[in-house]
Amino acid sequence: MKSPAQILLVSLLGLAGVVAHAKLRVVATTPDLGAVASAVGGDRVDLSVLAKPTEDPHFVDAKPSFLVKLNRADVLIEGGADLEAGWLTPLIEGARNTKLQRGAPGRVFASEGIALMEVPTTLDRSQGDIHAAGNPHFMTDPVNAEIVAAHIARVLGSLDEKSAATYEANLKAFTAQLDTKLAEWRAVLAPYAGRPVVTYHNYWIYFGRRFRLPMDLYLEPKPGIPPTPAHLAEVISAMRAGNIKLIVVQPYQNRKTAETVAGHTGATVLDFPSFPGGSDTGSYIDWMDHLVKTTANAFAAQH
Ligand SMILES: [Zn+2]
Repeated sequence: MKSPAQILLVSLLGLAGVVAHAKLRVVATTPDLGAVASAVGGDRVDLSVLAKPTEDPHFVDAKPSFLVKLNRADVLIEGGADLEAGWLTPLIEGARNTKLQRGAPGRVFASEGIALMEVPTTLDRSQGDIHAAGNPHFMTDPVNAEIVAAHIARVLGSLDEKSAATYEANLKAFTAQLDTKLAEWRAVLAPYAGRPVVTYHNYWIYFGRRFRLPMDLYLEPKPGIPPTPAHLAEVISAMRAGNIKLIVVQPYQNRKTAETVAGHTGATVLDFPSFPGGSDTGSYIDWMDHLVKTTANAFAAQH
């Protein structure tokens, strides 16, 4: 026989279990989407992020644990512009979760409502172009992050009506904070407007457009195609002709290649974390703050 205290304990544990399971289980494919989902969902959601901040989001190493997470998820947030197509599609098929079927309310395509850049007029993957649906790196623009945050708040609120007001309040707070920071970031980078930056991969054009820094010269000849000597020679002449002195690299890219180009052009190599969580940048706003300030510092050091 159980004592009344034991019965109470068992029922309390049962209740705790119910409360814990009431949290929406949210899976985000990449840490930028995860950071925005975290800002909106707060402690009302149980959030998992699949790709590591230091990993190439085009080629994520799929782990068996991903299948478990996707099988149990109520919500999946993915970019929706083919960024994760290569590794995510088989995982979703394997997870056998009807909540994540295309068209289900829990399946979120973050690119909905975003004006994608570089959408090709004809589909052509013959040269290995991994941006066949347009440039998928739209989260590098804070204004796009606000659009995605509103989208996520809508979805979470419809699936978990009890917490809808909380999601709405979190969205308001996130947007207000981001708007304040955006004004500050624009001011920090304004003195350098128009100065081009070379990047390894075509990852930062949305960031560059927002802050008026042309970022459309790449060490890769095409997205996903490794640099060739002939292409690098062209980049070096363009950098010399345009007096371009900054090269951005991400954690999984070949820094030595960037250093070689810098050696021929007197440029600085700057490490850009691809995602929040990459280097002391846990939140979306911390990450963007880091990108803006390190860029401004690098330009300032060249004066
Ligand atoms: Zn890409």
